[in-house]
Amino acid sequence: MSILQNFRLDVQLVFEVHRKQNKIHIESLLTCFNWSQFLYCLFERVFIMILKCSKFQFFVLQFYCQIIRKQIICLLCRIIQGFLQKVEIEFVFVMEFPQKIKIKIEMSQKGKKCIKLSSSIEEEKKSDSISKQIKKQKKKNNNVGIVENKKKVKTQVIKRQDAWKHLETVVDLLIQSDPKNILDSQELSGLIEEFEKSERNSKDTYKEWFDKEYEYQYEETTQLMKPINFKSNLCYLHEFRKRVEYRQYWDIQEIIKDLHKLFGNIYMKCKNKQSYYYLSKVWDDAKPKIRTVIQEFSELIKEEVYNILQMNTEFKVSSTIWPVVPERKDIRTYIEIQDYEPNPNVEPHISQIKEKLSSKKIPVKCKSDCVCFDLSRMGTFNYSDIKWDSECPNRSNRIECREHEGTDKPCLNMQIQLKQYLINRINFGDNADVEETLCWGIDVYTRNVIINILPLNYVEVQKNQFIEKLILAINRPNDKERGYDMGLACDYIIRESRMVSSYYNKDDRKMAKSIKRVIKLDGGGFRIHTKGCGLVCVNKFGIKTNSLIIPYLGEIYQPWRWYEKQDFIKKQMKEHNKKDILPDFYNIMLDRHLDDYDGIDILFVDPINKGNFSSRLSHSCNPNCGTVTTVSNGSYVIGMYAMRDIQYGEELTFDYCSFTESKQEQLQALCLCGSENCKKYYLGLSNQREYNAILDRNHCFIKRNSILLNSCLDNYKIDQILLNKYKIGSSLLTDCPFWLKCWICQSLGFIDQEYKIYKAELDTKFIFNEETEKWNQFTAQQHSEERIQNLIFTLDKIKFFLKQSDTVEPPLSKISNEDLIINFWGMNNESLLSNELYQLFQKHGLKKLMELIVLIQDKRHLYEIQEQLLLTRLLFLVLSHLLLQQKQSFYYEGLSLILQMMAFTYTYFKQTEYKGFQSPPIDDLEWGKVGLIKKKGKAEGKTYSSLFVWGQLVGWYKQTVATPQLSLCVDRRGTLLYPQISSFDINIEKQVQSQQEKNKTDFIYKYLEKRFNISVGEMSYKTNQKYFGTIFFEYVFSQELGSQFLDRVLVYDKKDFNIKFKQFLKYEKLKFNHSSEQIYKLIDHFKNLVQVPKQRSNRKKIEDIKSEDRQQEDELLFKKECLITQEI
Ligand SMILES: [Zn+2]
Ligand SMILES: [Zn+2]
Ligand SMILES: [Zn+2]
Repeated sequence: MSILQNFRLDVQLVFEVHRKQNKIHIESLLTCFNWSQFLYCLFERVFIMILKCSKFQFFVLQFYCQIIRKQIICLLCRIIQGFLQKVEIEFVFVMEFPQKIKIKIEMSQKGKKCIKLSSSIEEEKKSDSISKQIKKQKKKNNNVGIVENKKKVKTQVIKRQDAWKHLETVVDLLIQSDPKNILDSQELSGLIEEFEKSERNSKDTYKEWFDKEYEYQYEETTQLMKPINFKSNLCYLHEFRKRVEYRQYWDIQEIIKDLHKLFGNIYMKCKNKQSYYYLSKVWDDAKPKIRTVIQEFSELIKEEVYNILQMNTEFKVSSTIWPVVPERKDIRTYIEIQDYEPNPNVEPHISQIKEKLSSKKIPVKCKSDCVCFDLSRMGTFNYSDIKWDSECPNRSNRIECREHEGTDKPCLNMQIQLKQYLINRINFGDNADVEETLCWGIDVYTRNVIINILPLNYVEVQKNQFIEKLILAINRPNDKERGYDMGLACDYIIRESRMVSSYYNKDDRKMAKSIKRVIKLDGGGFRIHTKGCGLVCVNKFGIKTNSLIIPYLGEIYQPWRWYEKQDFIKKQMKEHNKKDILPDFYNIMLDRHLDDYDGIDILFVDPINKGNFSSRLSHSCNPNCGTVTTVSNGSYVIGMYAMRDIQYGEELTFDYCSFTESKQEQLQALCLCGSENCKKYYLGLSNQREYNAILDRNHCFIKRNSILLNSCLDNYKIDQILLNKYKIGSSLLTDCPFWLKCWICQSLGFIDQEYKIYKAELDTKFIFNEETEKWNQFTAQQHSEERIQNLIFTLDKIKFFLKQSDTVEPPLSKISNEDLIINFWGMNNESLLSNELYQLFQKHGLKKLMELIVLIQDKRHLYEIQEQLLLTRLLFLVLSHLLLQQKQSFYYEGLSLILQMMAFTYTYFKQTEYKGFQSPPIDDLEWGKVGLIKKKGKAEGKTYSSLFVWGQLVGWYKQTVATPQLSLCVDRRGTLLYPQISSFDINIEKQVQSQQEKNKTDFIYKYLEKRFNISVGEMSYKTNQKYFGTIFFEYVFSQELGSQFLDRVLVYDKKDFNIKFKQFLKYEKLKFNHSSEQIYKLIDHFKNLVQVPKQRSNRKKIEDIKSEDRQQEDELLFKKECLITQEI
């Protein structure tokens, strides 16, 4: 509610309800001044409407909104659009969301009955940048108004000329010329006397009224010549007026023809000569005036058509050449296979895939009268629950039957195992059910054009039905090569509609004629585009709902292999400069069922090279087929089923349900399904930035590393409850080393937490009621499922790597104290870190500090290894303090802070050096057909480097990065790594290119520059670094340090060493149980240089410190989870 109340809404409503059957009383909406109330009403109304549509439509709508994740905008737009189209009202309103979202939906049409809807939503990216701009401005100036924002919004308002309104004057002219109103009267009688005497010289004028050459005969009673066989459906003037109102006229000829028909008809009714004379006078009076009016009309109508064709052009498939008729050689061919074919087709991958395909789900014994013997009673597929709503227990459970009580007759839920597939014409000629042939479709743009030009007397439902029939006509049999021609499709409808018992009726004919009229004026809005080779029903009796079409077969991949292939294709596309081309894709995911005893898992099926005719199906947003992963004979198979009756000539389609992470790619994927609820693109958009907001906050890079190190140290228990909740079973966990299982559990923990936070966020965004609650749950769940998928993919890749390298070793391990000492002091005075410091001090003449390093180097041997480390940390603290005492000619403040950080860094870790390897080469056949690359290249396998495991595990939530180790190397700078000491020397030449290296996640840079306002030069990091660990990592990794660790420890104080030392003491005790005596003993070495407070006798016990911290921690528990990102 609170968010909603913040929104501002300007509502201007002007409406008129036109269609009685769709009338909805929305007057009540007008009385809502509070906009949240208004919204609520709107939601309520629309939900009622949604409930009236079929379950499937509802699902599609839901799913669509989910995909594009425009949250409230999307929902509103869809809803409002649907709302407007259904009730047909005039409606103008502007909604403004000052924070982020901006919508303007406008219907501006001043004519009485013509309605245009134009809506514009800011592009996601743009709205983001606007919100950013606003935020920035807000900082500077609080007076940022919404007015400014208004300018940036792109709205597409189409002004229509409304040529037809102009045409209405024709009717007025006729009325003026006809005082007796014979044009609209039923009977022609009692005509004015003066006409009896008038001698008119217009013998043959009546011939003008008949457009054809008729034979005439003399009529005795009227003494008039009348044509034989004249028929006209235009009897009265009001009928003509209606045709004008319905916008049926697109050119002058039509109008003149109709006027002739009208006059001809009345002439036929004339009962005497006088009537005829009167009629002639009316015509003669009106004719010259009408001529000028319709001349003007013909000018206006051109503009009108132009305006209509300019609408929604963003959804127009752009093509330089049109029509494109695919030639045989351009059509993809496939090798027909009878079963899934593993890739690579060698052991051990064959057995691994077979294992993943097997299921322990067992069918029950059905009764002999079970619905599975009757397709029509079998029940429909429920997309939201992903199950069949069937009374057959097996069917509903997505298992094929095996046995039935008291009968050996096979049921219809055994079609996969019995191979009862539909018959392809290629093999069986005339007895075939389906044929692979060219298919054609229209884009959303063309669909809108057609809707806009159809006569207004047809309601939305009729128009939509007509378009469905039109699409059938577009794909009419025996004329596939000319499927691009809309005129021919219309001719086909016109011809067919005259046949007896035809699928097309009179209304279809009229609408087809309308299209033809506009095509004559401008054909540019009626392009039909090729969908390539599709699958069409050629069975005269059609295909019954619930029939199995054929299993969706293809090469089958484990995720690691699938993504290897994707990476390879991307690389090839880049090398061949085909980056802008959207590659063809046919792949589909095979998910093991959630209720499978061995748990979930995913495989990829790709029929691009090897498959069957199921790979020919085009995408549709309102498909007639669908895929269902079914257990048949103990094995998973993706079955393609007819989800409704399919008629002869109809194209078979299914919803690809595909997503892309690239907006650009989506924009290229314009849908050609032409259906009423077309989603405009056949690719949904996923993994957007806002989508990762919770991940960035609660599961940031450092946190993910901390989780990984924890798992590698076996610091985590396996959480069986969580594994069960997400159905992670033996299919995924086989061959997982213990540390990897720990990692899965911790990552699942995040996914679980993210779901709750996301759901809660959604709940606060929308007005809370049962519907939105369901909706939010659905959205959050989809999100969660996508995470789980990525977890599965990552797991599969890691398992593959470990198997290839023949190891189970974890990728990270802690560095021993001995190694740490060596890292700092070196083995035999050949120094590392200490030497770097020494050299810097020497260069700038800091004698005292040089001496101090040498002193500690000599003394440290007196102590145990633990105390040597403690002494080293103490040295860092003292050096850090001493550096601040005097202005220096290098970045001394930055170095001081780094040393201070090092004084409080206890945990260091290193990576495991795995053996890298090359995976089996990817056959050139596999990518040769993709993205129009015709040239064959060298087959090569993917190279896996030692760092892959660490990189992939830390970047587990995305699969788009071919080499996760590279981004890891960038990300860990300043988060897991301290910069080189030489970075702080001002005299060293700084490289300009390092500007790019500056990393968003570089905490050290952020801390220095942003928090302490300390200027530093460009910081460089060792490229072959082997030791990792920073104070930030420490903060996340060592929970026992408490949530205020960073704030307490990172104090910037030039004069007082005390504060820093106190904190040093406290955290040494907390972390290692070091006693104060121990530390005071060591500080003696520095007593000439820094003032250290005397040791107090009544010191606090460690336990006390811990409990004091614990208290504050509870309060800050949530904040702590939100982590460092926010604090900086
Ligand atoms: Zn059954
Ligand atoms: Zn059965
Ligand atoms: Zn579509």
